[in-house]
Amino acid sequence: RQRERMEKMAKDLEVAFKGEKSAKEKIDAIRVEDEALLGSIGDGVVAVDKEGKVMFVNRAAEEMLDFKSEQVIEKPYEQILEMQNEKGEILVKEKNPLYQDLNSGKKIVTDASGTPEKTIYFVKNDKTKFPAAITVAPVILQGKTIGAVNVFRDITVERRIDKSKSEFVSLASHQLRTPLTAIKWYAEMLMSKKTGKLGLKQKKYLDVIYDGNMRMIKLIDIMLDVSRLDAGKVKIRNELSDIKKVAEIIIEEEKVNIKKRKQKFVFECEEKEMKTVTDPNQLRIVFQNVISNAVKYTPEAGRIVCSIKRDGDNFLLSIKDSGIGIPKDQQKRIFEKLFRADNAFSHQPDGNGLGLYAAKATIENLGGKIWFESKEGEGTMFFVTIPIKN
Ligand code: ADP
Repeated sequence: RQRERMEKMAKDLEVAFKGEKSAKEKIDAIRVEDEALLGSIGDGVVAVDKEGKVMFVNRAAEEMLDFKSEQVIEKPYEQILEMQNEKGEILVKEKNPLYQDLNSGKKIVTDASGTPEKTIYFVKNDKTKFPAAITVAPVILQGKTIGAVNVFRDITVERRIDKSKSEFVSLASHQLRTPLTAIKWYAEMLMSKKTGKLGLKQKKYLDVIYDGNMRMIKLIDIMLDVSRLDAGKVKIRNELSDIKKVAEIIIEEEKVNIKKRKQKFVFECEEKEMKTVTDPNQLRIVFQNVISNAVKYTPEAGRIVCSIKRDGDNFLLSIKDSGIGIPKDQQKRIFEKLFRADNAFSHQPDGNGLGLYAAKATIENLGGKIWFESKEGEGTMFFVTIPIKN
């Protein structure tokens, strides 16, 4: 009886063993397949566990970062994946996407279209570096983040093309600016009648020339602003500035348009002056855009309320209009370069979609923020914060 029992047990064990062996073989086969798949893609892939230790590196990552997988497996990722910003400073933990991802469990994407300051550089084993576009996704098992996968590619070529495009725009704009300024001066001279009285028709034609020229100057100026921003060449000249005054000057300049459109424009500011250390010329770009947009995208007899308040450590400028609004499905693209919403085209054919892009990059350079709330057909409210510094 005992022998029979032993034989049965041996048989059971054999069956169990075979089952396990085939399960293991299956897992091995899947693993080999996965590794072959990950190994053959062109983008670099680095996977880390929840402590940030490297679990897997594919062939492309080995080549791009110039090391062998055996050298790095099980090591903390900071040792092999040094990330830097444009200035060559190592990204602190809070700014490192891999760490951010492990902490938040949210996918993080940086693309090739970011401004230079936002580009992340990967440092290779030999200490040379390259700009990278990266996607970091959390690995989630049963609701818990157990690691992260970083997929990245070298965007040196994209950056080079982008740079030469920007340089071309910058060169063309500079060359155009000089003759346009000359046209403006001479037109103003003719208009001032110092050179003789103009007939009614001559005056009318001259006005058309003047308006067209001013439009071109504005376009060239914003193109120059954008190319300086894209090249990271904006120099901030901080000084103690009254931001209330900056806003007032722009509102004054917009008065002609406000009057033309018979709009009601209210400016609210309880304090006599609102001083902080910032670059008033840069701030002008931001205020000019949100204020002129409110006027531009509000139909005749509409109402606009602009206010500046203290809000904690910031001054907060808000501008509310009763204009055409921004369609919900297009709101997330509003700060993109050259983007214009569909309804903006029909309301105001003239526009370039560069203003808000420049405004956002500029206010971020000054340490502030810009955002908006809007409802199509009802109106829009833009907000701008400016840090209070003494
Ligand atoms: P532009 O005004 O030259 O088109 P901007 O970059 O200043 O370019 O603005 C981008 C787009 O944002 C506009 O084309 C328009 O669709 C939308 N927009 C901006 N401000 C407003 C506003 N106050 N009301 C409605 N739409 C706006």
